[in-house]
Amino acid sequence: MRIDDLAKSGGTVSFEVFPPKYGMDEDLSVIGGTLSKLRGAAPDFVSVTYGAGGSSRSRAIEIADLVISMGMTTLSHLTAVGHTKGEMSSVLDDLTDSGVDNVLALRGDIPADSPEGSVHWKDFHRASELAEFVRFKGDFCIGGAAYPEGHRDSTSLETDISFMKEKVANGVSFFITQLFFDNDSFLSLADRCRGAAIDAPILAGIMPVLRARQIFRIVEISGCKVPRKLEALMERYIDDDVSMREAGIDYAAGQIAALWEKGVSGVHIYTMNKSAEVIEILKRCGLR
Ligand code: FAD
Repeated sequence: MRIDDLAKSGGTVSFEVFPPKYGMDEDLSVIGGTLSKLRGAAPDFVSVTYGAGGSSRSRAIEIADLVISMGMTTLSHLTAVGHTKGEMSSVLDDLTDSGVDNVLALRGDIPADSPEGSVHWKDFHRASELAEFVRFKGDFCIGGAAYPEGHRDSTSLETDISFMKEKVANGVSFFITQLFFDNDSFLSLADRCRGAAIDAPILAGIMPVLRARQIFRIVEISGCKVPRKLEALMERYIDDDVSMREAGIDYAAGQIAALWEKGVSGVHIYTMNKSAEVIEILKRCGLR
């Protein structure tokens, strides 16, 4: 199933999972159990991150296989950083053999722990170059990343839109956004895209706040804004994970319900490999 077609034919609900770190969950029973519970919420697709957070790249393909074997559509993330065209070609061959139809073409970031002097940028420097390579390599539906509040390296929101246009010209036919907590920033991105004649569906990336400290760290890295209402909750529950979880589920459900009312093309939940919380969010906003 192509994700661009799914998103054009009605709002999609999808999930992101990450592969277990090297040396953990060797038999994939933990992630398998999580996926099996998430399947109960009938996602339109499940995306699998690539090389992020210390997971191995072959693991990402194994998890994509697992998602497909459970009867769900998958989206495999791919990052350009560190790859030659030859290596990327063989990853794409593996994905084709596994029956993966959808890939998210990303630049990736230089790993924080990489030794000095390592060569990070080989044959690709930008996500749009990777998208172009994937387009010529096979019959994939290609997605790209979008940033409602701008990418942290970008000089302005307008230049970000021109880079999104470049991605579309190179084969990207849908976008997934970075997490955001203020729906206005997403709606304003959608407006800017309309103004620039970008009509690829944009799926809203929603990260539930389940532990305040963890999200404060993520906010620091991504630079995304935290509305005062949410910040107050995070400060109040900084040492109270149980109350934060409850308030975070409610906040995410409210965010999704409001976006749905506005006719968003889809919501993509960053599950952090949690199932019960995600299912509860969807129940509370009436989507599943
Ligand atoms: P690009 O689109 O290449 O943009 C990177 C920077 O370059 C931006 O500042 C952009 O404004 C600028 N730029 C782009 N084109 C040009 C140009 N022509 N000229 C000048 N400047 C330009 N990381 C992982 O490691 N693994 C993952 O699985 C993963 N999944 C992600 C999923 C989503 C939905 C998102 C939003 C991000 C994900 N990331 C992942 C993080 C991502 O790799 C980083 O945000 C990275 O810094 C940028 O990736 P990109 O694909 O947006 O890059």
